[in-house]
Amino acid sequence: MSYKHVIFDLDHTLWDYNTNAKETLFDLYKSYRLGYHNLFSPQEFYDTFMEINESLWVAYNNDKLAKGYIRDNRFKLIFEKLKLPLLNYPSGIDNDYLFACPKKTNKIEFAVEILNYLKTKYGLHILTNGFNDVQSVKLDRSGLSPYFQEVVTSESVGAKKPSPEIFAYALEKIGASKTEVIMVGDNANTDVKGARDFGIDQVYFNPEENQGVETTFDIKSLKQLKDIL
Ligand SMILES: [Mg+2]
Repeated sequence: MSYKHVIFDLDHTLWDYNTNAKETLFDLYKSYRLGYHNLFSPQEFYDTFMEINESLWVAYNNDKLAKGYIRDNRFKLIFEKLKLPLLNYPSGIDNDYLFACPKKTNKIEFAVEILNYLKTKYGLHILTNGFNDVQSVKLDRSGLSPYFQEVVTSESVGAKKPSPEIFAYALEKIGASKTEVIMVGDNANTDVKGARDFGIDQVYFNPEENQGVETTFDIKSLKQLKDIL
């Protein structure tokens, strides 16, 4: 194939969401003295965050939740699950999380190496379902911004992956045809199925080696992009 452009997802594909969230939550655990109640450890705080957050994002991606719902309810649901009495709910922690987490700079292994390799051969772009305000901070702070020509967020388009509208919008902005682009992402539904249904090739970034996902390419390390591109 003669690709001219590579479109990347951001969270969990280039920007190390889990490590960055973990660092932030461990910091907040300390500053809000969440150990005081002897109810849960920093690790349990993180594990519960991931569980709740993941389910909220799945619902959001499927248009089952409105935009503000995740931010407004995430920590409430986490503390409910951790059995923290409402009285002790640390108000402000949701905003502190939103302020601090996007400034974390951990990236997925080989992200920078592979972007340096690709940047001379392809136009590079971002297509994300994340929110404008935090995604731009993540890209800037982590040093990823300079690699990308177009950054398309679901918020600016008014449609989310996997809907065809957002892929069509991205292609128009990039100025490319379907056969000239390939989508790289970690999400089997939004990134892979979305791109596939729209009619562009896909690379499923699949470090957990999930089975049964229909995709053009399946990789478990970003390094393997060198074999494809
Ligand atoms: Mg992702």
